[in-house]
Amino acid sequence: MLNPVDIANFRGALRGELIEPGDSRYAEARQVYNAMISRRPRLIAACADVADVVAALRFGREHSMRVAIRGGGHNAGGLGVCDDGLVVDLSPIRNVHVDPAAQTVRAGGGCSWGDVDHATHAFSLAVPSGIISTTGVAGLTLGGGLGHLTRKYGLTIDNLLAADVVLADGRFVVASAEENADLFWALRGGGGNFGVVTSFLFQAHPVHTVCAGPMLWSLEEAADIMKWYRQFIVQAPPEINGFFAFLTVPPGPPFPESLHLKKMCGVVWCYTGSPEAANAILEPVRSLRRPAWELFGPMPFPMLQSMFDGLYPPGLQWYWKADFINELSDEAVAQHIRHGSRLPTMHSTMHLYPVNGAAHKTSKADTAWSYRDATWSQVIVGVDPDPVNRDKITSWAREYYDALHSYGAGGAYVNFMMDEGEDRIRATYRENYQRLAQVKTKYDPDNFFRVNQNIRPAAAAGI
Ligand SMILES: Cc1cc2nc3c(=O)[nH]c(=O)nc-3n(C[C@H](O)[C@H](O)[C@H](O)COP(=O)(O)OP(=O)(O)OC[C@H]3O[C@@H](n4cnc5c(N)ncnc54)[C@H](O)[C@@H]3O)c2cc1C
Repeated sequence: MLNPVDIANFRGALRGELIEPGDSRYAEARQVYNAMISRRPRLIAACADVADVVAALRFGREHSMRVAIRGGGHNAGGLGVCDDGLVVDLSPIRNVHVDPAAQTVRAGGGCSWGDVDHATHAFSLAVPSGIISTTGVAGLTLGGGLGHLTRKYGLTIDNLLAADVVLADGRFVVASAEENADLFWALRGGGGNFGVVTSFLFQAHPVHTVCAGPMLWSLEEAADIMKWYRQFIVQAPPEINGFFAFLTVPPGPPFPESLHLKKMCGVVWCYTGSPEAANAILEPVRSLRRPAWELFGPMPFPMLQSMFDGLYPPGLQWYWKADFINELSDEAVAQHIRHGSRLPTMHSTMHLYPVNGAAHKTSKADTAWSYRDATWSQVIVGVDPDPVNRDKITSWAREYYDALHSYGAGGAYVNFMMDEGEDRIRATYRENYQRLAQVKTKYDPDNFFRVNQNIRPAAAAGI
């Protein structure tokens, strides 16, 4: 039981809000992006600054509370919230500062990628991130970061220069190649295991207008398109990125009525060069199979980044299963078509994100993110607004995953995993797991930060 006087003192120590069950803001504040997750924390500290984070961690430690860290709240497994414990919510810390001369960006620990894109675009710069602008900078970065610019500029972590971190014991440290290099190594892929990141410093790149957008084909053409794509994307110039998808066409503009609610396959492209060069590169696939519809053309980078935000608002039911993939064999393609053509709901989808091009320039041991030799990160995503369809989307995703898992590389991208147990986490970090457990021992020996894809301290992990 928490003492009301201690809670009052804690509230007094914060510039941000302390939210309890019964407060009018509680219902909204406990909700994360995935509406399938419903947890009831004892306290939510909406931190306004680093001092609030220090105070929150001290309170959590002194009262032996389970602590969840929330950045953007997008984690599908619900890692940004916990039952009974304390949520350290960074969402008020959303400052972004661009240094145009150095082409660097500093982003607060609660920023969304939309916040960063908004600030960088004014300087014709961008940081590699994901494919949806509402996702949190923190969780996406700490798990790796795969998106439209991966093939050109690498994972998000490959562009991380430094992080400000509040550790489990309340100390504030900077992690970079020069300072606390072991922590910096672990943060780049190791998730929220090591501390609360209050600020990220990124290298940005000159990106303003890209040639981008989706091309869609019928399911009858999916085998040809997938087989073309599997060869194309591993040898294409790094300026082009394209993720493959099975999808259902939404019933509204800009899609033609004839395609509404039709199950199709597609590739969402992003090319950082000229429109002429983009069209030349994509001419072979247009000749192979003319797309049934496409929205490919020059657009500001933030427009691409927010293209799917409206389709996937907060409050939907989400369940997903993932694998890293080295090769897409003919048998795997056949299984994909079998399950991809049975999308259970309009929002459900399957994506293959390239992990190649610039992502392969960094070696497996350089950061905690081990799967540098993978070709794709595959994610099978069951989504629907209606909780009634929870079992339907879950069982479809599991069946699809079961059919494809044996063609995978073993592990999965941590940011695309639900709560899948320690074996799966070890399989994902492979040779890097032992070193991660050692860094955990040094910076969080009591496993204070355990609401995450948990890496236990070495002794507890039997290392
Ligand atoms: C619609 C959607 C689209 C997505 N698209 C992509 C994509 O294109 N590319 C991609 O790589 N991933 C993508 N993801 C996955 C995404 O990277 C993860 O869900 C990630 O965990 C979200 O980060 P967050 O900060 O929003 O989440 P949260 O739920 O807030 O946090 C997740 C976990 O991250 C850690 N964490 C969060 N903030 C901090 C912090 N400040 N300090 C320390 N630890 C922290 C904690 O362990 C926390 O439990 C997508 C997810 C969704 C739902």
